[in-house]
Amino acid sequence: MFLLPDLSYEYDALGPYISSDIMELHHKKHHQAYVDKLNAALEGRSEFADWTVERLLSELSALPEELRTTVRNNAGGHYNHSLFWQWLSPNGGGQPGGELEQAIVARYGTFQEFVDNFTTQASGVFGSGWVWLQPNMDIITTPNQDSPLTTDGEAPLLGLDVWEHAYYLDYKNRRPEYIEAWWNIVNWDFVRERYEKSL
Ligand code: MN
Repeated sequence: MFLLPDLSYEYDALGPYISSDIMELHHKKHHQAYVDKLNAALEGRSEFADWTVERLLSELSALPEELRTTVRNNAGGHYNHSLFWQWLSPNGGGQPGGELEQAIVARYGTFQEFVDNFTTQASGVFGSGWVWLQPNMDIITTPNQDSPLTTDGEAPLLGLDVWEHAYYLDYKNRRPEYIEAWWNIVNWDFVRERYEKSL
């Protein structure tokens, strides 16, 4: 049984960048729905009882075909959102510092150039999807709830949800404003921790 993780901050902690209404709906309704559908899909499939969400996504092709799409969407949704909450912090924003910042600058020239590149890719996702920073410093996008564990074979360092459900209540159709606001609440401590573990 997969469970909805608690947030380490209150729903209203990320204002004015993301409202309490969005956070509550996104966590309690959207994320919960991925968890519920994943549990329902795997009910009675004891052969997968000890599989983690990471394993389900990394070894998606090993699953029976009739399970694959449901697991791709809902294990993906569960995994992506479980990380997404941790990538947000009321004390976030600024620059990452440390070896992570050095690696970003080595790849993109300046931190701002990285921000611009990530923002452009996030703005350009057609329909619903995500943009990610991978351990090799590539910026990639995925459609729907596809996880980099499936598409890239590597766990992401950082990711941004650009589904309309992530911003529409606050920003309507203005995705670029949501992305610009999001940089103010990025939890670089968590991203740095993931980078150091990936080395
Ligand atoms: Mn979402």
